[in-house]
Amino acid sequence: MKNTPYTGGCLCGLIKYEVDQIEPRMGHCHCSMCRKFHGAAFATLGEAKAENFKWLQGQDSLASYKADNGTVRQFCKQCGSSMTFAPADDDGKLIEFAMGTLEGGAELTPDAHIYVDSKACWFEIQDDLPQHKKGR
Ligand SMILES: [Zn+2]
Ligand SMILES: [Zn+2]
Repeated sequence: MKNTPYTGGCLCGLIKYEVDQIEPRMGHCHCSMCRKFHGAAFATLGEAKAENFKWLQGQDSLASYKADNGTVRQFCKQCGSSMTFAPADDDGKLIEFAMGTLEGGAELTPDAHIYVDSKACWFEIQDDLPQHKKGR
């Protein structure tokens, strides 16, 4: 499945990125904001060191939304694809990106569920990954 550098992009194709290495921490986030932002039961976010993540094109098509709690989410202006997440205290060293925007596979798989306290009641977790009530 290894196809590094990994590449990914938004639905309409304006935005494309490349990731040389994905860090081991990959959570399914069930928080209410990720659920809304992704329009899904949960968001799966991969992490890469900033030096391993590069926008290839379309960076000017990224819009961002800063929530009341200071978290920032980036999305494609044209097609609305959810692209990245940054915590309120982001130091820029890590990029968290939506795994669903990757082309092809990745060697790593998710390692945890986070913010399970906010999980959608209509979704049932059916794997054995660790579950964190909030962040980790
Ligand atoms: Zn797009
Ligand atoms: Zn979340």
